[in-house]
Amino acid sequence: MADNRTASIAIAGGGLMGRLLAWRLAQAGLEVSLFEAGDLTAPGGACWTAAGMISPLSELVHSQRAIFDLGMESLSLWADWAEKLEAQSGRPVNFRNAGSVLVAHGKDRNELQQFQRELQAKLGDGIDGDLRRLDRTRLQQLEPALESFEQGLFLSREGDIDNRRLLPVLLDLLRRQGVRLHEHTEVECESCAISDRRGRQPFDCVIDCRGLGARHSIDGLRGVRGEVLVVETGEVQLQRPVRLLHPRYQLYAVPRSGGRTVIGATEIESEDLSPISVRSTMELSSALYALHPAFAEARIVETRVNCRPATMDNLPHIHSEPGLVRVNGLYRHGYLLAPALAVRVEKLVSEQLNQVA
Ligand SMILES: Cc1cc2nc3c(=O)[nH]c(=O)nc-3n(C[C@H](O)[C@H](O)[C@H](O)COP(=O)(O)OP(=O)(O)OC[C@H]3O[C@@H](n4cnc5c(N)ncnc54)[C@H](O)[C@@H]3O)c2cc1C
Repeated sequence: MADNRTASIAIAGGGLMGRLLAWRLAQAGLEVSLFEAGDLTAPGGACWTAAGMISPLSELVHSQRAIFDLGMESLSLWADWAEKLEAQSGRPVNFRNAGSVLVAHGKDRNELQQFQRELQAKLGDGIDGDLRRLDRTRLQQLEPALESFEQGLFLSREGDIDNRRLLPVLLDLLRRQGVRLHEHTEVECESCAISDRRGRQPFDCVIDCRGLGARHSIDGLRGVRGEVLVVETGEVQLQRPVRLLHPRYQLYAVPRSGGRTVIGATEIESEDLSPISVRSTMELSSALYALHPAFAEARIVETRVNCRPATMDNLPHIHSEPGLVRVNGLYRHGYLLAPALAVRVEKLVSEQLNQVA
């Protein structure tokens, strides 16, 4: 930028990453425009489907160390950002930093031992303060509803956020910050320009956060189908996210307000967006029933299906070239990674703007 005007930033994609970056960059005083292909009130992206778990330790078992490190960084950023979001909007986002509990039925208790061994192999003694074995009494103290389990594990540094509260709060703040919002506007991204069917608009920098919408711009980007159920009951109250370890399927149950619990998630190598299958419904509900029999009478109030945007190595992808930054491949880790990735993107954008100043 050769003059003293405020730098203009275009963000393509109003999902999790796009909203979070728009909020941060507008706070930093930049002139931000956000382009979303769908509806900003009921987003079509994976962000709206997700369970909102922030689980660096649980995810480490299936992923690389980088995910854990970024996840730990995000967990502490969420604590700060959630407070700011609530103070600025006057509305809750329900960030909970209460750890998570893992359980397995007696015959599957090897799953708990294996989980612990895998974490220890990846983190060494560094895990000691973060993972506690729970006998029946301690488990009952933490999660009274899990009365049929003899043992479990407690992962103290895990959290979750209610995405169905967070995303509307971010939208509200973007409006208040004066971010220019363009809904139902499918765009293409290039260096210093956004184009849609009406034409091409110049910007000082473009950030591509289109998730799977950027498929043709990022080699190997693919969708991984995930399904969740939302149930409602007044009979069972969990205090924090609970994972059930099982040799064939793994389930998590995330308690939300109003007696609701989000249960997920399947993971299928497919970009099929058709409704949830009978098989997935049965697997998720029978695993839920195994957590507590009273879940049998819970009402299924919603089913959700979407595809996670994933790279070939399932690691996040940040690409920077003059006038264009792409951030994608958040896979099953969007809420786990978004703040740490946002900080990195902010730095890249600021370096680019300084270079041309
Ligand atoms: C079933 C399921 C459960 C999950 N649970 C968790 C969880 O518990 N914890 C966790 O950390 N992660 C979870 N995730 C993953 C998380 O939802 C994603 O990683 C995250 O939403 C990715 O964020 P994003 O902003 O990159 O993409 P998205 O959230 O998909 O947003 C992309 C946005 O770009 C828009 N767009 C696309 N193309 C264009 C275009 N051409 N022009 C303009 N806009 C466009 C889309 O409409 C969309 O709104 C889950 C995902 C699924 C499917």
